[in-house]
Amino acid sequence: MEFNDSLTIALSKGRIFKQVLPLLAHAGIEPYEDPELSRKLILETNRPQVKLVIIRASDVPTYVQYGAVDLGVAGKDVLMEQGDTGLYEPLDLRIARCRMMVAGVPDADPGPERLRIATKYVASTERHFAAKGQQVEIIKLYGSMELAPLVGLSNLIVDLVESGNTLKANGLVPLEHIADISARLVVNKAAWKMKHASVTELLAILREAVEASVAG
Ligand code: ATP
Ligand code: MG
Repeated sequence: MEFNDSLTIALSKGRIFKQVLPLLAHAGIEPYEDPELSRKLILETNRPQVKLVIIRASDVPTYVQYGAVDLGVAGKDVLMEQGDTGLYEPLDLRIARCRMMVAGVPDADPGPERLRIATKYVASTERHFAAKGQQVEIIKLYGSMELAPLVGLSNLIVDLVESGNTLKANGLVPLEHIADISARLVVNKAAWKMKHASVTELLAILREAVEASVAG
């Protein structure tokens, strides 16, 4: 299979890259280098038209939005947090799956004051509690949210939960489900038009790869 256009795909290192690799391989795309070992940010593949661009997870939608890359793979958590940036989101890759949850200390008495919620996901948290008609104070953190209730920074946290082991190890329990999360393929709107045949061909083979891996 040959693409008519050059295609750049933005990916983050770590779990997204690892879990996208088999899908790309199914589509006949294999990078020549491992981003965990190489310092290169633009990776060539066995398909001369296809390049992988290594970007921080939360920056992927921005690069795609501005057309600096044609396509990207971003967690639904990141997309929900950014709001509508005018990207196409044509395919759920069904990888990097987890849940966005409210969590806290079991049986904690919140007291009469406004609940304080520590999270990296300010917009999603705001939306969740607003939908319940609950006024909360949100404290923005950049990582290790589990610590916040343990030292009295917040009553609750909003974080991604996969197995629940990290919560458990810190004496926390999941309390409310906010959203099911997985990684999505996102496409720049101009690339969708200008490189339509190539983009839709890549989309079709990735969809097939997702279905094969879900079935297998
Ligand atoms: P940044 O590098 O910008 O801080 P990050 O630390 O969230 O981003 P990763 O930890 O690699 O980056 O996560 C990338 C994506 O993987 C997240 O956006 C989310 O969709 C998914 N993810 C994060 N944590 C989990 C988890 N525990 N289980 C499954 N998927 C997860
Ligand atoms: Mg991380």
